Amino acid sequence: MLVMCLLCPDTAVHAAKPEDTISSPSVQETSSIERAEKEKRQEKQILTLGQLIKKYPDTFKIHGPHVKQIALTFDDVPDPRFTPQVLKILSEQGVKATFFVVGSRAKKHPDLVARIVREGHVIGNHSYNHPQFHKLTMVEYTDQIIKTEKILYGITGYKPKLIRPPYGDITENQLRWAKREGYKIVNWNVDSLDWKGISKEAVKRNIMTTAGQGSIILQHAGGGSTSDLSGTIGALPEVIRELKKKGYTFVTLPRMLKVQKDK
Ligand SMILES: [Zn+2]
Repeated sequence: MLVMCLLCPDTAVHAAKPEDTISSPSVQETSSIERAEKEKRQEKQILTLGQLIKKYPDTFKIHGPHVKQIALTFDDVPDPRFTPQVLKILSEQGVKATFFVVGSRAKKHPDLVARIVREGHVIGNHSYNHPQFHKLTMVEYTDQIIKTEKILYGITGYKPKLIRPPYGDITENQLRWAKREGYKIVNWNVDSLDWKGISKEAVKRNIMTTAGQGSIILQHAGGGSTSDLSGTIGALPEVIRELKKKGYTFVTLPRMLKVQKDK
C-alpha cells in the first residue's frame, strides 16, 4: 500500500507496512483529527512542514537536485551498539554518509563521534536530548542547538551547518532563527522506518521502492534502550550494492546540497 509522505506531500511516497494499518485510526477518525488540526493551524496561522519547505527552499531541504546521487543519513548517534556496525559497512562499501548527532550522547561517547569524522563522514546537529521542537520556547530551542554545537566543536573542531530536528519537527520561528544564523535544516524524502524494529526485508523494501535521484534517506545508527536496528544494519550492504548497480553514487549532504559542512 502506498501512502503520501507527510514531509513531502507533493512527491514522496513510501510503503506502509501492515502494522501501520492495524494501529492506525479509522478513516473517519483520521479525517476528523485532520480537520481539527487544520482548524487549529488556521487559527494560529501555523504553517505545515510542507508549507515551510515551500516558503524557505534555501534553508529547509528534504532532497537534493535530480541527479543520480543519493545521501544516506543516520540519526540518533553515537550509540556503541549500532554506530560501529554501520561505520564498518560504510567503510567496506567505500561510502560516505551524514550522521545526525544527539549532544547528550556525544558527551557520553566522544570517541565514537571522533571516529565518524575521522572516517570521512559528515556530522550534523540533532539537538541535545531529542525533544519535539514545537513544544520548546525559543530559548530552550536555541539552547538545544548551541549546547550540542559546543560539544561537537570540542570533539571535532567544527560547528555543523546542518540541523535535523528530532522527528523532523520545527516551527516557522525556529526555522527563521536557523536561517538567520546560517544553518540549513535537512529532513528526508525516503523513510526506512527502521526505528520500528522491522525486518531487513522491510527496511530494504521501504528504501528501494522510493529512492531516486537526489533522495535523502533516513535511517538510524542509534536508539533507545529497547531499539532493535538489526533490520537496518542487515539491509544496508544490499541497499548500497543495488543502488550502485542502478548507477547511483553516494554523497554526503554538504556535497549533495553544495553547502559547507561547517559554519
Ligand atoms: Zn532522532
